[in-house]
Amino acid sequence: MNKKDRLLGMDREISRRDFIHDFSLASLGLALPVGVAAQTAAGKPVPNGVNYPPVRTGMRGSHPGAFEVAHALAREGKSFPAPTDVDESYDLVVVGGGISGLAAAYYYRKRFGPDARILILENHDDFGGHAKRNEFHQGGRMRLSWGGTMNLEYPLFSDEVNELLAELGVDIDTLLEGYHFRYGSGPKGKHALFFDAETFGRDELVQDFSFRAGRETDLDDAIDRFPISRESRESLKKFYARRENVFEGKSGDEVDALLRSISYTDFLKKYGGLTDEAADLFIRVTHGYAGVGADSLSAAECIGASVPITHLLGSPHLSGSGATDAGGDVAMFPDGNASIARLLVHALMPAVAPGADASNLALARFDYSKLDDAGAPVRLRLNSTVINVANRDAGTRVTYVNDGRVLRVKAKHSVLACWHAIIPHLCPELPDAQKEAQKYQVKRPLLVTNVLLRNSKAIDKLNLSGAYCPGRLHGAVWVVKGVNTVGYSHEWDDSGTVPVMFWGSIAPPDSTVPVKEQHRASRALLLAMTFEDFEREVRTVLDGMLGPAGFDVQDDILAITVNRWPHGYAYGYLDLWDPDWPEGEAPHEIARRPHGNIAIANADAGAEAYTHVAIDEARRAVSELGNG
Ligand SMILES: Cc1cc2nc3c(=O)[nH]c(=O)nc-3n(C[C@H](O)[C@H](O)[C@H](O)COP(=O)(O)OP(=O)(O)OC[C@H]3O[C@@H](n4cnc5c(N)ncnc54)[C@H](O)[C@@H]3O)c2cc1C
Repeated sequence: MNKKDRLLGMDREISRRDFIHDFSLASLGLALPVGVAAQTAAGKPVPNGVNYPPVRTGMRGSHPGAFEVAHALAREGKSFPAPTDVDESYDLVVVGGGISGLAAAYYYRKRFGPDARILILENHDDFGGHAKRNEFHQGGRMRLSWGGTMNLEYPLFSDEVNELLAELGVDIDTLLEGYHFRYGSGPKGKHALFFDAETFGRDELVQDFSFRAGRETDLDDAIDRFPISRESRESLKKFYARRENVFEGKSGDEVDALLRSISYTDFLKKYGGLTDEAADLFIRVTHGYAGVGADSLSAAECIGASVPITHLLGSPHLSGSGATDAGGDVAMFPDGNASIARLLVHALMPAVAPGADASNLALARFDYSKLDDAGAPVRLRLNSTVINVANRDAGTRVTYVNDGRVLRVKAKHSVLACWHAIIPHLCPELPDAQKEAQKYQVKRPLLVTNVLLRNSKAIDKLNLSGAYCPGRLHGAVWVVKGVNTVGYSHEWDDSGTVPVMFWGSIAPPDSTVPVKEQHRASRALLLAMTFEDFEREVRTVLDGMLGPAGFDVQDDILAITVNRWPHGYAYGYLDLWDPDWPEGEAPHEIARRPHGNIAIANADAGAEAYTHVAIDEARRAVSELGNG
């Protein structure tokens, strides 16, 4: 190990520390839920017996063991041994245990009755898909964070989504009362900008500065501290000070067309007067929200995102009205929308979490050994990758790989709630045009790395709630506090252990190539990175950002959970890269057509990366099934 890595604490056994701590807590009967198995930073289970995936640290999201079978099928065209028929028969088999698959099971029972026998097959070791709970116990109190899906974008919900959430006991007003996280606009701490030494020559934390700059104060002093050229700093100062309409005299349609045909960063240069260097600072701001850099998004798509633009479009505001660092009005659970997945699992399989409801959900114990109970009408089978779905004998046959075995079950109906890009490989009998349309869905790689810190003293000293990091792998970092809902509380004045969430995507090696090529290249980079690469990255940022305020990078990191999502956001059409299709002929509309007893769900079916879309598409898919 080189000296630099040693100084960063790369040789520190955070795994061993987890082990000792979790065991001492468990022996005292404290903090750890009964039977919880912790996991080391390297991803190995701590051997205290019972399987409880949310506490696993190390490489999560698309974790080792989850994707190899799918890649062998889809990338390598591998053929598998003939399946063994399992002596099980279902009314419905669902492929994919994300929100859409769980909602499909829920709607199926509503339509066909509570006796309907349902099997949900999921390739990961946890349910929820992107809605992933990260649960930490190192350091004493349980701390929660989200490993993927974060927000409920409730103003966009359909009546049916509102109805389902009400049935699950979710009350948005109650969630809003406990929601003080607000992506850095909460009661304590301020946004900052962190320039790192490796990229910019010196570490510089510019406090009380947000790119969005929703406040109207003079930003010159802050910009003077940016470690970039004087010319670039001056261009930024002028840009932030301007209030005008650069399209004065043009019609609304003309302005719309102009904004949709120019990238945000080109807009900044052409109309905002920024230098290339200054405009480049904004590229990674949109990584977390859009899964793609601001140089590949149109200026129109960045209105309402957390970047400044409207002050050059005749509005006094710097960003779109209602814009926040979450992109708009949202409500939240402390583990993100994993809570929705947990509520759905509880509704489908009450024995998994007896007594759980929306008032105590965050603390409710989920017994994973009861997910696949032979006596229950609904079963959820983890670590099971589906490799074939076929219409057969007035029903369907579903073949999957579990623990190296190739198994087949029969069902009346199947709902494919998995990613659309794999459906042509699972279901070769679909029409060619439909398979082509499914291949159009190239999901956007995303990254959520949660780091549990021993305390928030340095963060509090610096008055930080989050920071954008224009030069780093993760474009943004947020302090995770203040989501005091569903029975969980972590107040801002609590200076104990605290998760910080590193959020973003992977910058493609070349952002001038078509956006789907960018996604594929970013995905390859993401999959090639080791846990140590991510660990070194977060240690470097935390050391540079918090070190001067007393943070000890060697000692103050208790756990790291990397949630990598090579197949992240559903592909939503982009102004700069996709044509306008006639009604009913967009790829997602062709891709989701039912075929015999097989219907197709997932957020991909709505071409929008939202939880409510995943639910709406599940409802539609179930409604398309015949009576069997
Ligand atoms: C980091 C991140 C942040 C996000 N933040 C938000 C947010 O704040 N708000 C929001 O509304 N949305 C957000 N999303 C979007 C999110 O995708 C949706 O909200 C929603 O969770 C999608 O649900 P889904 O069931 O359609 O897909 P998924 O969650 O992807 O679930 C599909 C499941 O099918 C499984 N699967 C695939 N192929 C197979 C197979 N062959 N066999 C078995 N299983 C298979 C997959 O592994 C996966 O678990 C976020 C996504 C990511 C990645």
